[in-house]
Amino acid sequence: VHMASCAKLTEAAALLDSVDVFIFDCDGVIWKGDSLIEGVPAVLDMLRKAGKRIFFVTNNSTKSRKGYVGKFTSLGLSVEPEEIFSSSFAAAAYMEQIKFKASGKKVYVVGEVGIQEELDLIGVPHIGGPADAGAQIELKNGGMVHHDPDVGAVIVGFDRYINYYKIQYAQLCINENPGCLFVATNLDAVTHLTDAQEWAGNGAMVGAIKGCTKREPVLVGKPSPLMIDYIVDKYKIASRNRICMVGDRLDTDILFGRDNGLRTCLTLSGVTTEAKLLSQENQIAPDYYVGSIAEFAGAGVK
Ligand code: PLP
Ligand code: CA
Repeated sequence: VHMASCAKLTEAAALLDSVDVFIFDCDGVIWKGDSLIEGVPAVLDMLRKAGKRIFFVTNNSTKSRKGYVGKFTSLGLSVEPEEIFSSSFAAAAYMEQIKFKASGKKVYVVGEVGIQEELDLIGVPHIGGPADAGAQIELKNGGMVHHDPDVGAVIVGFDRYINYYKIQYAQLCINENPGCLFVATNLDAVTHLTDAQEWAGNGAMVGAIKGCTKREPVLVGKPSPLMIDYIVDKYKIASRNRICMVGDRLDTDILFGRDNGLRTCLTLSGVTTEAKLLSQENQIAPDYYVGSIAEFAGAGVK
């Protein structure tokens, strides 16, 4: 695979004409951490005025859809909850798809409030979550962690409060409860909690649970097709090649777009440098790339 098909976007107008739906990744595209990327509000306004449908797809499971509405609003962007597809929502959508509720079982959550809120909205009972620091583990005299035999799924999302108790609890559920599912919101190796450095991402949390269960999780976030299949189905989008996936990460966003029949545009406003994009080692070529999505507003258009 060579990079020959990847071109700097010079004709923004041509891209806009051939696309009806834009799917934007969030971190590195719309914002970086808590700051809005320059020029974004104007581009979103322009696309909406041009009649384009917009969705936001983020692998960050720490917030629910509702939580993201709050974040968009605090950055001065207006957005509908239905436009947001977070990996926390994807986890809940998957539980609905497999009719988990009918099993009468509950979920053990390794993760933060986003997953809990999404499960509450679909009426699936859950235990665990960020506050689950657990009992003091007694390792002497036959000490043990008691787990709930009614846990039918463990959902693992980014969890800044992960600890040995939670890993042991998840291990017991998955290894000892017959048929217990193992669901990962996303597998991002590192994330950008701050600009100062890279931080261990949900790949670390999922890796801990994989390591002690020898099980492969069901992935619901990018690059899994779940969210795009959901969007195409729910909004009856006729043609995937009139959807453009715009993201800053090659192995989640661009792979997600490429493997699911979408047009793809990489933005250099996040984690990927132009040098990395164009290097011989890179096997994942977007159709186009831009410095930031501000370029959609007309840079390069004569
Ligand atoms: N997960 C976590 C915990 C993050 O902090 C981030 C980005 O900040 C991501 C995932 C990636 O999010 P996105 O898919 O919006 O780039
Ligand atoms: Ca991103």
